Formats: sequence, C-alpha cells, structure tokens
Amino acid sequence: MDLPGARTHERLRNFPPPEDWDNHVEYDAKAHPRKVPHTYSLIPTICFNCESSCGLLAYVDHDDLSIKKFEGNPAHPGSRGRNCAKGPATINQVHDPERILYPLKRVGERGSGKFERVSWEEALADIAGRIRAAIVEDRKDEVMYHVGRPGEDGFAERVLQAWGVDGHNSHTNVCSSGGRSGYTHWMGYDRPSPDYANAKVMLLLSSHLETGHYFNPHAQRIMEAKQNGAKLVVLDLRLSNTASHADLWISPWPGSEAAIFLSVASYLLRTRKIDRDYLRRWVNWDVYMERLHPDAPQEFEVFLERLTEDYAQYTFEYAAKEAHVPVAQIEELARIVGESGSRLATHTWRSAAAGNLGGWQITRSLFLLNVLTGSVGTVGGTHPNGWDKFIAHYPDMPEANDIWSEKLWPQEYPLTTNEMSILLPHLLKDGRGKLDVYFSRVYNPLWVNPDGFTWIDVLKDESKIGLHVALTPTWSESATFADYVLPMGHASERHDTMSFETHASKWLAFRQPVQRVAMEKRGIPYQDTRDANPGEVWEENEFWFDLSWEIDPDGSLGIRRYFESKARPGEKMTQDEYYDNLFGNSVPGLPEAAEAQGMTPLEYMRKYGVFEVAKDVYRLDERPLTEVELEGATPDEKGVLRKPVTLETAPPLVGEAGAVGVVHEDGSKTAGWLSPSRKLELYSTTLADWGWPEHATPGYIESHVSARKIDRSNDEFVLMPNFRLPTMIHTRSGNAKYLNEISNTHPLWFNKGDATKLGVATGDLVRVSTEIGHFVVRAWATEAIRPGVVGLSHHMGRWTQEGHPGSRWVMGKVDLNRSEDGIWKLRYKEGIKPFKSEDPDSERIFWDDPGVHQNLTFPVQPDPVSGMHCWHQKVRIEKAHDGDQYGDVEVDVNKSREVYRRWLAMTRPGPGPGGQRRPEFMMRHVTPKRSAYRVAEASSVGGEGQ
Ligand code: SF4
Repeated sequence: MDLPGARTHERLRNFPPPEDWDNHVEYDAKAHPRKVPHTYSLIPTICFNCESSCGLLAYVDHDDLSIKKFEGNPAHPGSRGRNCAKGPATINQVHDPERILYPLKRVGERGSGKFERVSWEEALADIAGRIRAAIVEDRKDEVMYHVGRPGEDGFAERVLQAWGVDGHNSHTNVCSSGGRSGYTHWMGYDRPSPDYANAKVMLLLSSHLETGHYFNPHAQRIMEAKQNGAKLVVLDLRLSNTASHADLWISPWPGSEAAIFLSVASYLLRTRKIDRDYLRRWVNWDVYMERLHPDAPQEFEVFLERLTEDYAQYTFEYAAKEAHVPVAQIEELARIVGESGSRLATHTWRSAAAGNLGGWQITRSLFLLNVLTGSVGTVGGTHPNGWDKFIAHYPDMPEANDIWSEKLWPQEYPLTTNEMSILLPHLLKDGRGKLDVYFSRVYNPLWVNPDGFTWIDVLKDESKIGLHVALTPTWSESATFADYVLPMGHASERHDTMSFETHASKWLAFRQPVQRVAMEKRGIPYQDTRDANPGEVWEENEFWFDLSWEIDPDGSLGIRRYFESKARPGEKMTQDEYYDNLFGNSVPGLPEAAEAQGMTPLEYMRKYGVFEVAKDVYRLDERPLTEVELEGATPDEKGVLRKPVTLETAPPLVGEAGAVGVVHEDGSKTAGWLSPSRKLELYSTTLADWGWPEHATPGYIESHVSARKIDRSNDEFVLMPNFRLPTMIHTRSGNAKYLNEISNTHPLWFNKGDATKLGVATGDLVRVSTEIGHFVVRAWATEAIRPGVVGLSHHMGRWTQEGHPGSRWVMGKVDLNRSEDGIWKLRYKEGIKPFKSEDPDSERIFWDDPGVHQNLTFPVQPDPVSGMHCWHQKVRIEKAHDGDQYGDVEVDVNKSREVYRRWLAMTRPGPGPGGQRRPEFMMRHVTPKRSAYRVAEASSVGGEGQ
C-alpha cells in the first residue's frame, strides 16, 4: 500500500513497506558473514530530542521485545523518513547504563547528592498531599510546573487547569521570547513557518540549516529549494555550516540586524518593489496614519508616501555603519530580496532575537520584508505557525481558573511573551511569595539559565521552595538539588501527540511507548507503562493521572472527574481511553481515514504514528467566515467582527476575546489574523498603548552590546554564548554515547586577528570576565568568526560533585564552594574518564573535556518588552592568570542581584489600558478567565512585597 501523506513509491524504496511493519525480517549485522535473521515489529514513535518531532520507527525484536534501533518513519510528512544524528541516538538513551530507573528520595540536606530508592506510591502520596493542601488552603500559586522540553500541547495545561492552579512555567525566555514577541506584535501568531521548498529566496537570521528551529525537516526543504535554484542568504556572526551553504553570507555586528533589514525595507519602498494590493488590504495602514500622521489625508497613497519618508533614514550606508560590514553586501541583499516577489521565505528564532536588547525588533523588521513584498502565507512565502500546526484539544476541558500568579507574570513585564522564568529565584529572594511544590520537568534550571548560582541558593532554601520534584529521564545538575527524582520515559517510553509547523501542511504525530504496544500486540498483559519500560520508568501521562487522582481521591475537589473513565465510572481513565476519545473526536478526517482501512482512529495512529490533517495550506487570512462564526458577530468601528463575551470567559489560546474576523473595504468577511485589529500590525496599538509608543512600528533598538558600548582598546568583546551544536541535546546529550563521541569539546571561537593582538594562540587558556564573574576556557583562533566577537557553544560544561550522582559520559567532577559573602567558585578536579558499566563502550571513552559552564557567569538580562534573556555578554578577555585552570568559574551573586535590579528598572510596568495585566490576545499556556486579567477583578496572588 501507499503510505498516508502521499509519499511516492520512488521515495519509499529504502523503507520497509507498512504491510511488513508487524513482521519485518532483517539479518543481524553483528553476526556477519553468517546470515542470522531477526524478526521485528516496526512501531512508530516521535523523537524527543528537539522540538521538530521527527518520526522514528522503533525496531522491536520479537525474541525478547527489546528495542534494537531507531530509524526514520517514512509516513511522517514533516521528516519524511529522515532524522538528524540525535534521532537514532535515542537508542543510547534507552540503553544508557547511567539513566535513572527508579523513584528516588533525598537523604540528608537538600543538595547533599544522597538519594534512596522509594516506591512510586510513597512519592505520590507525599507530593499529592502537599498539592492538595495548597489547593484547599487557597495557595494556588504555590504549585509550579516548570517545563524544559515540552511534550503534548495542552496536556499539562489541562492537568493544571483541573487543579485550579496558576503554575505553568516554561523555559521560553531563555529560548525564543524575543523572536515570538516580534511576530506576535505583527500578527498575533508567535512564530513563522516558511514554505522553504517553494521559495525563490530564503533569508535566514541564524544557523538555521545547521541546527536551528525544526532543524531536520527545515534543512531538507532548504536544500530542495537550493537544488531548484533558490537563493540562500544567511546572517550569522560565525561561518556556520549554514553560512557556508549561503549565496550571500553577512556577518554583522551583533544587534545591528534590524538596521540592515530596515535599509532593505527602505529600498523596497523607494523602488516600489512592494505588493500594493496586499498592503492596502492586510496592513493596518489606517491606524499608522491616524497615530503618526493625523494631519495628513488619511488615504492609502499618502500612506505609501509617508511610510517611504519615515523609513528613508535607513540608508544602506547607515546600516553598513551600524553593522560594520561593506555597503555592497547590504545592496546585494536588497537586490536579492527585491527579486523574490511573493516567494520570500524568512526565519529567525533564537540567534539575534535572543541575543540582544530589543531583539524582538529585529524580528519585526525581518517580517516587514515579507509584509512589503506580500510574501505572507503565499506559496514559497512565510506563514504564521498556526496555519501549519494542529493542536488536538481533549474534548473535556476543565473550567478556566480565576487567579494570576505574579511569580510567573510580574507586573513589570505586561508584554512578556512567556513566563518570566529566569527571574524566579530573584522574585523569590525579593519576598514575592514562595513555592510549596516545584516540579522541574525535563529541565535543568540551574544549568541552562543565566545566574545559576542564584538558582542554587534558592533551590537549597526550603523556606522558598518547600518541595522540589525533578521529573527527568537522566541526571542533571538541578536534579541533585531535588527532594524527589522521578524517572520519566524517553521517546519510546511515553505517549504524546505532537505537531509542528515544518512546512505548508498540518500533521499530528503520536509518540508511544513502543514496548508496551508490542506487548499488546502479543496479548501480554500489563497494568501500566512501568510494566514495559526499563526499571520503574513511568510515562508522564499516567503519572499525572495518578497524581491528580491522589490529590482528590474522593472527587470532592472536582479534580478527579477529569481523569476518570467514562466507561467505568469510579475508575481511572486509561491512556487508551484518553487517546481513543482524542483521536476520535478532535482530529478532522482521522476517523474517516481510519475507517477506510478498517481501523479505529487510535489503531490507525498506533500503526502509522502520524496523520496528515491538511495539505498545501495557504492564505488562511482570506478564509471566508462560516455562518457559525458570523452568528451574533458585529463589526466595531475598525471592521473587527466580535461576539459578545463576559469576564467569566477565558480568552482563546491566542486571539483577542470575542474577535472572529474582519470586514474589508469590499465587504468581504474573512478570518484575518490574531492581532487586535485582525490585520498585520505595522503600527502596534498594543506596544503604543502599553507604554512603548516609540517602538510601535518596526524599528531599530540599539543593543546592550552595540559596537559603541564595547571598548575594543580595553580588550572588550561581545560573547555569543547561544549557538548550538547540531549533535547535542541541551543538557540531555549526556546519555547518548554516540553524540558524545561526535561532539566532545567546545573551544572559544576567537577571530585570528583579535587573538594575535592579544598574543593568544589556539589551545591557550584565556580568562573571560563578565559583569558578575569570570570563566576560563581554551581559545581557538579562526577566521570563521567576525572580529570583535567571540563564541562559545551551548551544551557543554557539565559537572557533578564527588559522591553525587551524574552521567559519567559527560560530567567532570568539581569542587563547588560558596563563601559567606556570596562568592561562588567551581573548579574541575577530574575530567571525563572511561568507566566500567554494563555497556562495554563506557570503557572506550577517549574524550576527557567536560567543557566550561559559562552560563553561571551571566547575570539575568531580561528585555523589558519581550522578557527574553539577552544572551550576548559584554566581556573582557585576557590571558589566563597564574593559577587559573581550564573550566574555572567564579561569580559574585551580590553583583548578579545588582544587575537584576538595573534591568528591572528599565521596564514600564502594567497594568495597561482598562486595568489589564496583559493583553488578552497574547498567548498564555494556562489561560485564566478574563476577570483574572484585570487587576481590580482578579484574586491576585504573590504580588505582595514589591
Ligand atoms: S531534528 Fe533531530 S533531534 Fe530534532 S526531532 Fe528530528 S531527529 Fe530528533
């Protein structure tokens, strides 16, 4: 048979056909030259090693139901059978001899690194008891779930909503808040989805092809477009693998990118290489004129003239001066973009938007190029993510809660894209409440965040965090500061639905515990996933169901019913029941497709692991509104169609409450965008009315590391610490030996000319000083990074203390000391060494470098608008001092408090118009009722002591 997703037989010839997936025979490679056949079930699941959610096929051996390997799932429309190195490395994670297999409870003081095995029942009873007390005693902001690598969209949110707590925290403001902010203020959607495969020009502001967002699915489509003649332009401070594939590579001074894009926008305007009809219909030009040119005739042609004049200041020469690059490069970029027409695919995500103060304006400026050329939602253009992603919401959602946690959404950051998670330790130190139960979930907060020593101070303080529960498949620095360490499943040991905007289609994929599925196929009984997974590793879904049940054992809190079987009242819902309901009722087209093959929707998803919900999705802004959508909707003075809502309703996940679409000049009524005006907001009334009128239009904000602020004569540089290696998984690579074998060192990229001036050669130790401390690292003198900038990759610098648990594949042993007055020192006393384990490869370790934990030396630098931690650091570099050792870190946490206060003073606190804490159209994972958005109405918690 042909696979779903319209894959061609030509493409499929390297993959076993689905008819064979229950009985696939391969010869044992290790037995070569003998031919020893093994029979496998090929069971689909989803990679858990980055957000792309590529399809995997687990090869489960019929002899013993062990997993022998993972390969790509050809049925997956996003990844199309392909994976990066991290996908197949899932096999290492499953068989890692260092992984956590049993629930553990702290012994001794927190941070002692001593744990003992406990039963799941004991852990559940303790944790549930505390959560129940917090709920009953109305301390609903004292329970917090802090997520690193997310799983199923909406799952944890549903659990937290059922509990009635405001406790969803994310890692996003060390990741993508800056990028999201820029897109949000254009269109309400917070990410782009470029249609690379059909593009004429691809403009990437990152090392996207190499490691960036949706790495494998995007990279394969970028290469396809290149093969079809598309041009690739890359802005990257390094000559990354991505830049090396570019037709034009520009390496600007960090933070100057917006000036470059605005100069290109200015060129498009003055040469009229713009899509006038698109601008007239879809841009809120009327608001631009009202707010910025109220005395001019309020006409479209006048708007174009004024817009051209307003951006005329951004000349190529100006941009070149800001960016410290040749004018000719910017002229070339403008010429290429000018020829793209409606097929301009652009992307930025972390990179510059995550590095610089005002990074969100870099995103606004980049997307301006799409808007001007009308390449938004077109074939080969750039879409909003929401068009190309499908979230399956469980039909039975609990009522929205009515509280607002100031520990997540402090009043100083009313426009932050996501929770202000980097500030959590500082907010707790400020006395803005405490946490009774804190879940770190597949998350290593003290390692990955800036200012990790302040995290340690707070994690150790039981008056600030009553109970820390680390839900993790593998040891991390943070897990050793937990009270419970609970082992969660890897990609092949858990359920999740996943969907991401990999291309101009929508798909929903299914992660599943493959050995449990194999047991089911053979009629082998099991109670839950623990019976199939190694040790007592549990899948999270079942854990949350059981925990919720335990919090409300008699159902009196109204929580239990959301986790109760419909078919067997009074008993827990199984995962099969949950997904049967989800796939049967929330995924358009799936029941019919399944029926056509004589299957239930759940059987279909277990078989193929994915369903393509929609194909070739374009221009949904022009989607006519349905009668149901129009019923009761009336247009406001700007043509926004709204339905009546009360304060008791919750805003939709994104989109302004009550708004369903827009009426155009020609009378047509279409869905439009999720912005307040339902149009693309060249002029953002949100930014203007919430305190930032000078930044209401795409503009240029001088970065905190602009060239003017770096004293090169005093050996100051910009440190770029936020680039990734394509083979590493944040801090979870530790349990993937293949990946450590490939990537096991991270020198400081140092421009050769700069290094020579300092008298530094490759391999020399240098001391890199930030505002709060310093670290010591080895230099790599290279032409592959621009002068004035140094770069140190993310992922490395892993450590554990003597006698503490950890992953010996990647962690060195350190001495960790804190003086009475807040000076922390970390020093390696042992690198990585071979060790004995059940895996003979652990004795073959040839690498010894654990890397340098640079993030410890960074203060928090949250952008006052987006909340994004601005990763770039102004640093001073000198040769290592006498006595310095590789990997040394020293930090003064008193200074980190000072820097926190300085950046806090840059904010313009809420509430905004109407006494609101936050605009309703901006995303919030657990969305409370509209009343909670209003200061006067909400039962605010945690806001005291500010
Ligand atoms: S890009 Fe790599 S790590 Fe990410 S989901 Fe795909 S295979 Fe896994």
